[in-house]
Amino acid sequence: MKRRIFGTNGVRGIVNEGMDCALALQLGKAIGGYMGGKVALATDTRTSRDMLASAAAAGLSAAGADVIELGIVATPVLQHYVKTHEDVNGGVMVTASHNPPEFNGIKCVDHDGTELPRDKEQEVEDLFFSKMECADWDRVGSLRSAPGAEDAYLEAVTRLVDANAIRSAGLTVVMDCANGAAFSVGPRLMDRLGVRAITVNSDPQGKFPGHPSEPTKENLGDLISLVKASGADLGVAFDGDADRAVFVDDAGEYLTGDKSLAMIAKAMLCKSKGTVVTPVSSSSMVEDVVRSAGGTVEYTPVGSPVVARRMMAIDALFGGEENGGLIFPEHQHCRDGPMSAAKMLEAVVRHGPLSQQASSLPVYHTEKRKFPCPEALKMGLQVYAKELFADQRLDETDGVKLIYDDGWVLLRPSGTEPIFRIYSESSSPQKAAERADIIQQQLQERLEASEQPLQ
Ligand code: MG
Repeated sequence: MKRRIFGTNGVRGIVNEGMDCALALQLGKAIGGYMGGKVALATDTRTSRDMLASAAAAGLSAAGADVIELGIVATPVLQHYVKTHEDVNGGVMVTASHNPPEFNGIKCVDHDGTELPRDKEQEVEDLFFSKMECADWDRVGSLRSAPGAEDAYLEAVTRLVDANAIRSAGLTVVMDCANGAAFSVGPRLMDRLGVRAITVNSDPQGKFPGHPSEPTKENLGDLISLVKASGADLGVAFDGDADRAVFVDDAGEYLTGDKSLAMIAKAMLCKSKGTVVTPVSSSSMVEDVVRSAGGTVEYTPVGSPVVARRMMAIDALFGGEENGGLIFPEHQHCRDGPMSAAKMLEAVVRHGPLSQQASSLPVYHTEKRKFPCPEALKMGLQVYAKELFADQRLDETDGVKLIYDDGWVLLRPSGTEPIFRIYSESSSPQKAAERADIIQQQLQERLEASEQPLQ
């Protein structure tokens, strides 16, 4: 088996434990050796950003790559820069997205601005584990900074929405930047669109003093209160590197990622018909809304790079995940938080207040369960689940999805943690919970039985 260093979201670890300068330097050399030419480098706001970016830059230039430093920008800003500069071979983002502040990581961007696909990551890994030669003294790369990446990005986003209509609507937005990479681009976008923005946690403080950088409902209490108190038209929150955005409606209700995905899909389908791509874990609400708006849904395995690649392959209209990662192909084939915010503002202008739009969505209830499952037993448990439910309607796009008349249950091992997940959705909350409980018990009993001989 090949040795791996990249997980589902690049390389991540705790700073100066797993994720240290030596690792960033070595990884920089491998990426520089693989990409060559010019490589763009950016960071989110984490306290370890300069340390790791400097080490990565040293590695990149040692391998002969010229480094273009963009500083602290949102991940989609870096991706847009790489995509729009033909002479730039790729990008490196120093970020751990929504992880706690003691974490950091390194993620690679391909020449077209998309996340580096697995086969290319493998080539970087091969170099990482090999005895890499550095460039000769007269071939080592240089470092230069390139201001203005954010300006070009803002231009592009503003062009792709009806900016005049948004400007004349006189909207107010409360924006929570999670002290992360959205701190600059988020408020600047609102300014460009003539939207009055009340900001919270918009200082670039890498210790994330406001709240943890995952935009869950529990973390967004201040945003929700501010939307209610200010009478704003909506609230928006970004994750640490701003590739994801979640929303709060004008009544102060937190909208799940499924809901914002469905709402933006509907707004887009009003303009042109097409296919919406989403992972099998997304709510049936998305499919219901897309179908009734005249579109079709295509399901993929979980993970935004898979969604993005599928969208490129079939020339999809729109796509995204239930965690607030939305992809707009007319802009770029990657998740984009600020672009999502601009599209949501346009949806408010065209289709009315978000609370009204949300109330017309079909109602489903989702129960999420997880339980510890050792890495070595994950696949065995998945195979067992398939056998156990062999006489039911199954979908095996990712894990095992049991299809019922009034909902579904998805059983899949986590790709990043030693846990097994159960998602159960139904129009009846009791049904969703009951199925999740029964199946969890069945799987855990099996797991205990398979673990016993080891003790
Ligand atoms: Mg992120």
